[in-house]
Amino acid sequence: MKKCTACNLPETYETIEFDENGVCNICRQKSFKDQKIDWETRAQALGELIEKHRGKYEYDCILPFSGGKDSTYTLWYLIKHFNIRPLVVQFNHGFMRDTLLENNIRTFKKLGVDVISFTPNWKLVKRLMLEALIRKGDFCWHCHTGIFSYPMHIAIKYQVPLIFWGEPSSEYTAYYDYADDEVEHVDETRFNRFVNLGITAPDMYNMIKDDYQCDPRELTPYTYPNIRDLKKLKYQSVCLGSYIPWDVKANTKIIQDELGWRGDQVEGMPWQEYSYEKIECSMQGMRDYIKYLKRGYSRVSQMTALDLRNERISKEYADQLIANYEGKKPPSLSLFLEYLGLTESEFNLIVAKTVVPPFEPDFKGMPYADKTHDFNRWYREDENDRGIIFKSKP
Ligand SMILES: [Zn+2]
Repeated sequence: MKKCTACNLPETYETIEFDENGVCNICRQKSFKDQKIDWETRAQALGELIEKHRGKYEYDCILPFSGGKDSTYTLWYLIKHFNIRPLVVQFNHGFMRDTLLENNIRTFKKLGVDVISFTPNWKLVKRLMLEALIRKGDFCWHCHTGIFSYPMHIAIKYQVPLIFWGEPSSEYTAYYDYADDEVEHVDETRFNRFVNLGITAPDMYNMIKDDYQCDPRELTPYTYPNIRDLKKLKYQSVCLGSYIPWDVKANTKIIQDELGWRGDQVEGMPWQEYSYEKIECSMQGMRDYIKYLKRGYSRVSQMTALDLRNERISKEYADQLIANYEGKKPPSLSLFLEYLGLTESEFNLIVAKTVVPPFEPDFKGMPYADKTHDFNRWYREDENDRGIIFKSKP
């Protein structure tokens, strides 16, 4: 496969384009971010935005919170630098890990914040995972739509117009461009562009209703709220990273020092180098595995690309990590198959339909990645509960 000469990302990466020197658009975006964005003006805009909302509602802002490094840093930063009063909103996708939960408790107590945590119906989650896997080769629809929709419903319920997210997507993809010199709004356009895979919650209801007993109201947490209600609220849904330069490594160091935030092992990743990425979800290894089968790269490539772009590692070292870690089966595969009631060959058949050429996956003979320290505590279903309860066998 063709790869970026600077960061190694392959041609199967979403939104990638190469210039005449073989350098990708995401690398070019990075040099724009460093050289041309007037961060001082942006910082001033951040102060004005916060003062405009301060003290007017029950909370100054809604802060969607996963407990990962980005949302934790965002919460820390806004309290530390602005003494803001947020309502922290957590959407529990059902796969939260021990270290993450401990981090969350510590962070909430140390910062002294109000928190709402919401966990949707697990049986429905499994049905949604299966449908999204079959249709798009991406089982995370329930989580991505829930994470981005649910806090907006809370914003409307509490009538709090300011919503603060963390990292801007320009850091990783070219869906939004730093060069547009526009602040990325986390709104319905963005939601439909790359959060919901082109499947709205009403679409999803129609897809599953014939074989799965379900009330349409159960899809509400995954439904983006009515745009009229949001406009009436005069909502502003923004990323902190649009206002201050986002440096993942520096941010992580700060939350480790200030909040005792701890990283974790993640399946398929080099644990020494990347212990702070995507520690939120026990199915992260599965997500990454599917990405590898579809596109021929995993999170290892993405992380080394970011480090190459920031000139933190050598190309040789990146190549070595990729060679050692990519293309392995996560131990969580067995749990995943139990949740959805699939055999491994049924799973492979589903994923094979979504492969992005020119990549051709080799489903056989892939070795397993190492088990994480908490693997044996991840949720296992009783034999009777495995798979999905269909109305009648399709
Ligand atoms: Zn590149």
